[in-house]
Amino acid sequence: MYTVTLIPGDGIGPEVISSARRVIDAACGNILWEEVTAGQCAIPDFGEPIPDAVIESIKRNKVALKGPLTNIVGKGFRSPNVTLRTKLDLYANIRHARHFEGVPTKWPGADLIVVRESTEDSYAGVEQMVGNDSAVAIKFITRQGSERVIRKAYEYARAWNRKKLTVSVKANIMKLTDGMFLKAGQEVSKDYPDIQYDETIIDALCMHLVRKPEDYDVIVTENCYGDIVSDLAAGIAGGLGLGHGVNLGDECAVFESVHGSAPKYTNMNKVNPTAMILSGVLMLRYLKEAEAADRIENAVAKVLREGKAVTYDLGGTAGTSEMTDEIIRNL
Ligand code: NAD
Repeated sequence: MYTVTLIPGDGIGPEVISSARRVIDAACGNILWEEVTAGQCAIPDFGEPIPDAVIESIKRNKVALKGPLTNIVGKGFRSPNVTLRTKLDLYANIRHARHFEGVPTKWPGADLIVVRESTEDSYAGVEQMVGNDSAVAIKFITRQGSERVIRKAYEYARAWNRKKLTVSVKANIMKLTDGMFLKAGQEVSKDYPDIQYDETIIDALCMHLVRKPEDYDVIVTENCYGDIVSDLAAGIAGGLGLGHGVNLGDECAVFESVHGSAPKYTNMNKVNPTAMILSGVLMLRYLKEAEAADRIENAVAKVLREGKAVTYDLGGTAGTSEMTDEIIRNL
């Protein structure tokens, strides 16, 4: 048995987490869930979005399945996701953008992995007003932080039998910060001769990605670029309803979808549960529950291929719970 920390989160989080939990429980009897409260919903009871109990639970269990957490724009607490990643040193945010047959897209067959450094860069949130009408943010990049995430990306590429890794930043303009990240890529690549090394400037990467996504395999980049490029990759593969991933450190793994809490759809039984279910599949593979992971993935693929019980974003009329029921029926 494995004890896994379960974080329903905000907005649509509780609905998609409930779907993922139902599907996982139907396919695998080996998970004990330890549910904790995090996000805006934790503030009334705990006074903060990431209470200590959440960090303690994940540190104890080493594995978590997490719903999206709402971040109030421009005010309030530091981003709860940034807090979680920093406190647990989850430095690699790995996001899968994989197309499934039946999902509408201009790029059938797209299958990308974006690895985003997630503790440094301008996302550390170190900002300051300069007078009343200017503000600065610090972009902080270290050699050690760059090397470890690139190494993690290579290890992940190997584990997933991937053939090519592209390091992408803007080193032609930010020669010290992005230059350091790029240099780290060139150095670390020497230890992985079995995987083709490639480097592209981040803006050119975006252009090439939407023209020929099949030219890319695993992409590794800094925090801010990675956030944007992973949404782009999710869009290429069929939308935010499918993008799934994990925040990996050396000690803990927190699995989550790429999408956020989509507050306008809260409690409407409307959104696509697939991204969270596929994040659960990644979690089962991490826990070496390969058979259950395969069963869920095959059931999801069948439901998507048939297209009869899918949510609005995939052109269907099914609700979150109906799509979940159909996936469970197909296990
Ligand atoms: P979002 O991903 O929540 O939603 C953007 C739009 O994408 C939605 O309005 C909806 O049209 C669509 N969408 C998202 N998830 C979907 C799903 N499962 N099925 C179908 N359609 C879906 O992005 P946002 O509106 O920019 O962010 C909302 C909140 O979520 C913000 O507070 C943001 O900070 C937070 N957020 C959290 C995480 C996280 O916890 N990892 C990630 C991204 C955003």
